[in-house]
Amino acid sequence: MAIFQFLAFLAFASHLRTMFTDPGAVPKGNATKEMIQQMGFREGQVIFKCPKCCSIKPDRAHHCSVCQRCIRKMDHHCPWVNNCVGENNQKYFVLFTFYIAGISLQSLFLCIQQFTTCVRQEWRECSTFNPPATVVLLLFLSFEALLFAIFTAVMLGTQLQAIWNDETGIEQLKKEEARWVRNSRWKSIQAVFGRFSIAWFSPFTSPPNAKTKQESYLYSV
Ligand SMILES: [Zn+2]
Ligand SMILES: [Zn+2]
Repeated sequence: MAIFQFLAFLAFASHLRTMFTDPGAVPKGNATKEMIQQMGFREGQVIFKCPKCCSIKPDRAHHCSVCQRCIRKMDHHCPWVNNCVGENNQKYFVLFTFYIAGISLQSLFLCIQQFTTCVRQEWRECSTFNPPATVVLLLFLSFEALLFAIFTAVMLGTQLQAIWNDETGIEQLKKEEARWVRNSRWKSIQAVFGRFSIAWFSPFTSPPNAKTKQESYLYSV
């Protein structure tokens, strides 16, 4: 129970962090003539402008039709957290799927354990409910645990693959030639999680370079 509660707490915290962290929204409507002049782009430099939210689109940013903003390194818009998953909150999203998959697997394991002890012992000793009610409850819980274990494990897998290949979900879908310089695997992992430490698994520490990237839209080409 202690392990379950601990993991559930981390999952809940990761969920909240994914929900409330700015995924990397680009300032809206900054693609005005004055702004572009102020930013001092070089002659002949190509700037991408988003026609929908009128912002200067940094490299690897995509427009999200739900958020109505351009999001840096947008992976996808997640209805489960009601937010985009992008550059600044991907770590929390990965942790969210990781911990949900963890507690789902643990629940599944506990269900099987409970069922086998019930079969081996007297039903009255192992459950306060009568046998049919116990079976129904166990089946319901196993189904729920299995469903979310598979769903979050698949999400976790695709996220880790995306980070491993330094390619966001949208870039994978579009299958365009990479316009960005692909990071090495280790660098790409560090860009999301920071330097390797126990903090990788904590939803309370933000990845170190999340703030310094604030200015990156100035250098977009
Ligand atoms: Zn946009
Ligand atoms: Zn969105």
